[in-house]
Amino acid sequence: MQSFKSDQSADEGAIITSQIVQVAVPLPVRKSEPLCYDYLVPEDLTPSGGLPVGQIVEVPLGKRAVWGIVLSDTPSGDVKADRLKQVISIASLRPLDERHLRFLTHLSDWTMAPFGMVMRMMLSTPKAHLPPPSKIVYHAAQDADSAQAKITPKREKVLGFLAEGHAMSAPELAQETGVSQAVIKTMADQNLLCSHEILDEPSLGYHYAPERLSLLPLSEAQKQVAEGIGATLEAGYNAHLIDGVTGSGKTEVYFQLVAQMMAQHKQILILLPEIALTGAWQSRFESRFGMSPHIWHSSVSAARRRKLWRAVLKGDPVVVVGARSALFLPFTNLGLIIVDEEHEQAFKQEDMVIYHARDMAVMRAHIESVPVVLATATPSLESWVNAGQGAIDQKAAGTKSGTARYQHWHLGARIGTSHLPQIKMVDLKQDRPPAGKWLSQTLLDATKACLEAKQQTLLFLNRRGYAPLSICEACGTKAKCNHCDSWLVTHRLSGARQCHHCGFRQPLRNHCDDCGQEGQMRAYGPGVERLAEEVMAQFPEARVCILSSDTAARPEVAAEMIRAITEGEVDIIIGTQMAAKGHHFPDLTLVGVVDADFGLQGGDLRAAERTYQMLSQASGRAGRGTQSGLAYLQSYEPDNAVFKALISGDRDAFLSLETQMRASAAMPPFGRLAAIILSGVDEASVEKAAKQLGEARPHYRDVSIFGPTAAPIARIRGRYRMRFLIRAPREVNLQKIIQQWLENQRIPSQIFLQIDIDPYSFM
Ligand code: ADP
Ligand code: ZN
Repeated sequence: MQSFKSDQSADEGAIITSQIVQVAVPLPVRKSEPLCYDYLVPEDLTPSGGLPVGQIVEVPLGKRAVWGIVLSDTPSGDVKADRLKQVISIASLRPLDERHLRFLTHLSDWTMAPFGMVMRMMLSTPKAHLPPPSKIVYHAAQDADSAQAKITPKREKVLGFLAEGHAMSAPELAQETGVSQAVIKTMADQNLLCSHEILDEPSLGYHYAPERLSLLPLSEAQKQVAEGIGATLEAGYNAHLIDGVTGSGKTEVYFQLVAQMMAQHKQILILLPEIALTGAWQSRFESRFGMSPHIWHSSVSAARRRKLWRAVLKGDPVVVVGARSALFLPFTNLGLIIVDEEHEQAFKQEDMVIYHARDMAVMRAHIESVPVVLATATPSLESWVNAGQGAIDQKAAGTKSGTARYQHWHLGARIGTSHLPQIKMVDLKQDRPPAGKWLSQTLLDATKACLEAKQQTLLFLNRRGYAPLSICEACGTKAKCNHCDSWLVTHRLSGARQCHHCGFRQPLRNHCDDCGQEGQMRAYGPGVERLAEEVMAQFPEARVCILSSDTAARPEVAAEMIRAITEGEVDIIIGTQMAAKGHHFPDLTLVGVVDADFGLQGGDLRAAERTYQMLSQASGRAGRGTQSGLAYLQSYEPDNAVFKALISGDRDAFLSLETQMRASAAMPPFGRLAAIILSGVDEASVEKAAKQLGEARPHYRDVSIFGPTAAPIARIRGRYRMRFLIRAPREVNLQKIIQQWLENQRIPSQIFLQIDIDPYSFM
């Protein structure tokens, strides 16, 4: 720490030393180091020992006051001491852990998102750095006996209760003793009670009590995994992949691991891809652990998030179950990270700071020296390869084999008598539904049989709304978004045409905006609402429900729908991916995938892998109870390798083939990709900036830079978009190449530049 002598005070003879610290500020400036400014810590704020690294402080920045983090307790010296601005206030929090700071800097280095933005995201919980509210608590006065006040029976009750050493607020006391708050206040006025103010911040930590747990006795196979991983839990960083079919008992296995770390009073983080849908998961957790976990996602109230954020930093032992942003919580006592459904795309955050929560969870575990467990029924190719699979192909790709980064654990069979469903193709070329209808005769017959057997059917179609496209029959115009290069999707239930990229809506009118004709707009293509129409016409007596992010937008509504389905109040579920995930519907025996080809169109890098995962999730909903399950996949190309793998159940052969293709094309995880996206409201200036950037591209052997080209969706939210794609061998430091390329480029301020390391979306 460096101190300096203020000249003025030296004149006055009194030596006042002040500290100067470097504070990271929340500006989106991309540099190789976090952007920090020097600030003076005023005398009256300086705690003894000075302001430590990791302290969250409020500092002036231009005309604003912002929150930042002290990253160094010595000045950079960039600004003369007498011209420095002063720290405004210090958060009422302990400093962030050094490992947490390292995580933030590593994440910023890896994603190339400016440190200031990463920090802003991490500090975005409203008011978390302000002191918590305070409350007045009462305790018995020392000399209460000698006070001149009358001791009524009510007063006696209060004094008796407080004699046990409690200190409580008036409402709490009233609750405990049954006397009114007015009695308590009067007692205080008459000096029978003393009061003082304390911070209202109860601990959120669990009390570990083995007798409160009711974990299931594990099967032999589960036990092997739980014990195998369990043996490594206290040995620092270790990464594990639990790879087991849906229903094989992975969740119960990791519950065991959670309990093991709870016995150590550790903080535990469980990441789930879609937290709003996890009511059943939460009740299962409650019944096993006799307590609720702490939920973290954006629709949890600000007050709750704030409490949890502070508790996590205080080191309270908590089990946090969260969406990807939970990864940024300031854990100080972390013991274990679990990433369930590790293959899920929902873990990739696509705007502002672009990161993959699974990969960053592994990074965080590494930095924290704690174990991380990934669980899935359909591993991502990345994790599969990291678990040492497809080794032959890696050798072919010239990368080291035999260096598995994750330990691979298998769970082969479903728990109990339940088996994986049988999967069959429906060739739509042979068994084609009539125009404007989407269900083949085969699937209709199967649904009918299922209804008659009083079992449930899931018809899976990953398209929200009624129809993806509307065309005017008179002039041929397609209904398009005003702000994006995309079609408007008809939503009949909400009476609107909607853009799925920006949320733009217009009332559903049968009127062409272009030629003005009335009654000529025709809907093309299927959505879940339209499919429901077809199903209700075919099976008027069936109880049908649509499960999509439109019909179950709020978590309570989703939970209620899932309850109704689970309890057999529905015969046919028409669902998007929201219905395909994780649920356990015991009476569901038939799954019909209406458009199995859907994900294979467009053909990006992960199209086959994603389709495999999606279809195996969807078909995995069938036959989870005592009855066996059947899934039909409707397709125009039933011979596709993805379907063949699903039917034969030979997932590993499929992954090996994918591995080979990726390796020979030097695509991830065997090669590295990054995207640079330029966007702005003025098309010409985006093009110009992209052209200039393109001209400055570096030339390296082995590194290919494609672009600039207009993005496939060339305009979103009124912003034009141009893309570059960079591909390099795995051992190349791609971030460094991009950093050097951008370093001397002047991107006009109205152009927004985003870097997406390891892109999942190529739109
Ligand atoms: P996964 O996470 O692999 O999909 P789950 O852990 O959800 O599998 O288990 C599937 C079903 O089997 C759940 O209802 C679960 O409670 C039950 N189950 C799992 N393990 C056991 C066990 N050892 N004994 C009894 N039931 C179990
Ligand atoms: Zn739009």
